[in-house]
Amino acid sequence: MNKHILFLWDIDGTLLSVGGAGERALVKAMQSAFKVQANLSEIDYSGKTDRKIAHILHEHYNLPVSESSIDKFLAAYIAHLEVEMQHTRMHVIEHIVEVLELIDQNPMFHQGLLTGNLRAGANIKLGHFGIYDYFRFGATSDFAVERNELGPYALTEARRDTGILFSPENVFVIGDTPHDIACGKIINAKTVAIATGRYSLESLAEHQPDFAMERITAPDDFLMELLDLEAVH
Ligand SMILES: [Mg+2]
Repeated sequence: MNKHILFLWDIDGTLLSVGGAGERALVKAMQSAFKVQANLSEIDYSGKTDRKIAHILHEHYNLPVSESSIDKFLAAYIAHLEVEMQHTRMHVIEHIVEVLELIDQNPMFHQGLLTGNLRAGANIKLGHFGIYDYFRFGATSDFAVERNELGPYALTEARRDTGILFSPENVFVIGDTPHDIACGKIINAKTVAIATGRYSLESLAEHQPDFAMERITAPDDFLMELLDLEAVH
């Protein structure tokens, strides 16, 4: 194995499950920042970045959109997220920690985030389980509003951090939704869809990822399948 390989991970439903903590934090942030009782069932926020959701909520509830108002909302969201996570049954998805560790141990492997979360939100969620430090770089919604901006942004961050220009065929985008598959296809990466979130294997397969699986059954086998190898270490 003499190629540098980049793995870009989605968070929610892929690395971990935080129950409804994110949704509750959004509702509470609308209340504390703007005294608005938001009803999330009225808006379509699936696959949207946190920053995009802030824009959508502003528009839906007729709040004037400004950078300071968006930032005010996002700061409130992060504060509530931290509290809500204390009251939520959360877990890391099975075998994820072993896979992250295997990647971390191999000098030819690199990994980062490709997520609609804010960096602070990623820190809270991943830090809760002690797995934040596996991700030195990545794309978060701090500087991107649209999800499709995240892929190119992640590649730029990966190059900045590692000094390596990764070929698209050596980049894997791993996620649990059709949005993640779309993000990966935009940068010509290999897409890996895992049905550990809200989507079934069948519905993910309809979006034609390069790999589709129900779950990670064994960390070694997972990496070998992706890399088409007999053994990874
Ligand atoms: Mg997800």
